[in-house]
Amino acid sequence: TSVEKTLLSVLRTIPDYPKPGVQFRDITTLLGDASAFRRAVDELVHPYAGQKIDKVAGIEARGFILGGAMAHQLSAGFVPIRKKGKLPYDTVRVAYSLEYGIDEMEMHRDAVTPGQRVMLVDDLIATGGTAEAAVKLLRQMGADIVAACFVIDLPDLGGRKKLEALDVPVRTLISFE
Ligand code: IMP
Repeated sequence: TSVEKTLLSVLRTIPDYPKPGVQFRDITTLLGDASAFRRAVDELVHPYAGQKIDKVAGIEARGFILGGAMAHQLSAGFVPIRKKGKLPYDTVRVAYSLEYGIDEMEMHRDAVTPGQRVMLVDDLIATGGTAEAAVKLLRQMGADIVAACFVIDLPDLGGRKKLEALDVPVRTLISFE
């Protein structure tokens, strides 16, 4: 589609970053392009325009950039989901596994109230481990997760299926096999 073409033309792939064999999909070039950035945000939110969305929850760090813009478009609040130790108030925390070892992410305990309708966002979904952890945090606080949105899907890594198995609808704009 034309959206995919537009976005593909402004995405950059960095070979062997952060380590040999990895193809890193870099969205900073998309964010830096005024019309592509607007287009990506519009596309992510358009199915939900007119629905009541209380919060957009963004995953640190690129999810903050997309999520702030989406929250503005949807007239929703914004909730940061961060690496442990960065949030100043009482938090809920969840551990999740990375390729090597585990990490923890946190959200403020009062960031979402039970029954609030929340959209989750990050730049990219790969294995889905990061997004799954964010889903657990949000549900622990009683959030109703309307959808999880990503600019890029790496379908071979199974993240979309993992979220769909948790009954989280997934919206992505571009995929790389
Ligand atoms: P997952 O937990 O395996 O789904 O990995 C997704 C997380 O890793 C997201 O927070 C992404 O921002 C980050 N990530 C993994 N691969 C890439 C990439 O190629 N480009 C940008 N971010 C990536």
